[in-house]
Amino acid sequence: MAAPNLVFLLGDPVGHSLSPAFQNAAFQAAGIPWSYRAQRVDGERLDDVLDALALLGLGGANITVPHKEGALGSMDSLDREASIVGAVNTVCITKDGLRGSNTDVDGFLAALGEEVPGGLKRPAVVILGAGGAARAAAWALVRDGWTEHIAVVNRTLEKGQVLINTLREGEARKGGGRTRFDLFRESSELTADLKAGTGLVVNATPLGQGALADQTPLEGVEGFPEETFVFDLVYGVRPTPLVRLARAAGLSAADGKKMLLHQGARSFELWTGQSAPLEVMRDALESAARSQGR
Ligand code: NAP
Repeated sequence: MAAPNLVFLLGDPVGHSLSPAFQNAAFQAAGIPWSYRAQRVDGERLDDVLDALALLGLGGANITVPHKEGALGSMDSLDREASIVGAVNTVCITKDGLRGSNTDVDGFLAALGEEVPGGLKRPAVVILGAGGAARAAAWALVRDGWTEHIAVVNRTLEKGQVLINTLREGEARKGGGRTRFDLFRESSELTADLKAGTGLVVNATPLGQGALADQTPLEGVEGFPEETFVFDLVYGVRPTPLVRLARAAGLSAADGKKMLLHQGARSFELWTGQSAPLEVMRDALESAARSQGR
């Protein structure tokens, strides 16, 4: 039987996180006497905290906003996804030191696969935002051939261009390079043709969450066909403003809870080497979200 151990969620803030509820439920269901705790950490202390985890031989860690990029430099090795996306959300303590992974990539795709099991109904994808979540989602779509046309919308064009460069480099590493990329500063610049050909809109900005809870990254969904699926990576119990907007116009939409679940399940498997008890985690996540009123 495994010895008691600890896994930490490191970020700032972390108090709102639903991860402890479903990770602890997973450890319990799997009969692993580990505990998952959220710990707020300043960026300047992250490297020391990660070194301490390794020194103490702890079970591992999740890294969340705003440290996913900052954690890269503390790793002794990276998996392919963390290296391409340039962000770490899962840390394993190995005999060769700290290994950084990015389970947001496969977590996003697993969630999308549940939402649109038959694949996208139109060829293009619009990604709103260009930070870590946008990079993970866009790379997942390019890597697994979900689309050959991605339009990035980001208020800071330079960061949008960095995202596109990242995707081109990722494609080159896997020996491909067929995807068309467009870049816009605002969603109002999306052309009618592009909207008409869009099968998926992904919100990877924080609009709709926390202090921005009443905001939406799109003014409206006019021009997108009914087949467009709107995937808001922000999550809550109540539908987010973007999900409400999309559904009111007859489009299918979902928030980011399923992505949270699936990235967490993959992290669990990396730490423990065991299959994640997915349905136990799903129930615990939903009940924690309900009890937090989200
Ligand atoms: P991030 O790296 O900080 O990137 C945020 C992006 O949103 C940037 O492109 C930023 O634009 C843009 N943005 C921020 N504030 C904005 C505003 N007021 N108006 C327009 N654009 C704005 O964050 P992230 O890690 O990618 O996370 C983004 C969201 O996804 C967060 O809400 C996070 O909770 C969620 N997320 C969910 C999951 C899940 O499992 N469901 C996983 C990861 C992330 P600039 O480039 O101009 O700064």
